[in-house]
Amino acid sequence: MFDIDRLEMKEGCSDSVWPVIKSGLNLRDVGIMTERHYIYPMRSKSVTLLLCILLSHPGVYAQRDFSDSEVTKLVLLGTGNPNPSPAQSGCALALVVNDVPYVVDFGPGLIRRAAALSPRYGGDIEGLTIKNIKRAFLTHLHSDHTTGYPDLILTPWVMGRDEPLEVYGPAGITDMTGHILEAYREDIRYRLYGAEPANDAGWRVNCHEILEEGIFYQDANIRAEAFPVPHGTWPNAWGFRFSTPDRVIVISGDTAPSEKIVEYASGADILVHEVYSHAGYERKSESWKSYHAEHHTSTLELAGIARRADPGLVVLYHILFWGSTEEELLDEISGSYDGKVIVGRDLDIF
Ligand SMILES: [Zn+2]
Ligand SMILES: [Zn+2]
Repeated sequence: MFDIDRLEMKEGCSDSVWPVIKSGLNLRDVGIMTERHYIYPMRSKSVTLLLCILLSHPGVYAQRDFSDSEVTKLVLLGTGNPNPSPAQSGCALALVVNDVPYVVDFGPGLIRRAAALSPRYGGDIEGLTIKNIKRAFLTHLHSDHTTGYPDLILTPWVMGRDEPLEVYGPAGITDMTGHILEAYREDIRYRLYGAEPANDAGWRVNCHEILEEGIFYQDANIRAEAFPVPHGTWPNAWGFRFSTPDRVIVISGDTAPSEKIVEYASGADILVHEVYSHAGYERKSESWKSYHAEHHTSTLELAGIARRADPGLVVLYHILFWGSTEEELLDEISGSYDGKVIVGRDLDIF
């Protein structure tokens, strides 16, 4: 299905800083915890510097389209994590099935990334016309997956969505949604009752909390199943398995190594999985090692998962490079997994 030979890997353009708010800390007491590491793995030659600057600029990336289906397209809207890398927008994906979009996770920047592939801005995915975004699925409430949520609610409405956004997510999504709408109350009021033409439906949100494993959404295009994943002490973190007329796509969400992913990704066409560099991990302090081991999945661990699940393709996202290059990530995985793996980049289409 995927032509691995079409891939052209670029070197030395990863980045990594990891400002993380530790789970469970009271910010009023301790402030925001950050860790300093690593600077760019820059080669000394100026030509490489220029290449890296160009390739790390999201507007300069060559568009990569690996898809060979006219029915189902998986779009990586953002492959990032809490680090505000200009090359990695906030964590978000879109499944577009028969030109109907389904958003997965709401990292910052998702609406502009989606717009980039819509016809209005030169793309050719009609389903990503912003006002068409009406259904969205959330894996968990971490901010790197939700700071784009106000944008997801409001911008498609401003662009003409005339029905409520349907959101499916973990327990707590209803509260978060209510707080966001309250925070933007004045904007909503002004658009509704000022001079601006606006409908009174598109800013509304219908929340559906996912409370148990299994199918949580189904229509003519897609069946969506949720399965619990281990993500530190988060009580509600989900991975998703989507079945469309011609694809099965599994999305890990944020997770430490999980038997559930092996189970749900077995035989899938695509496994989109988060990952961190093993070499980068080895350079971390013991406390950060402990944190990441409980919350995320290393290249070596992912190789083991992929070997057992045997999906058609593994796509890496939510990538923590920590100074490693794309090639080094792939080398770490290929040491014990010989299937197809692609280091996902923003706006990749599968
Ligand atoms: Zn995350
Ligand atoms: Zn998370």
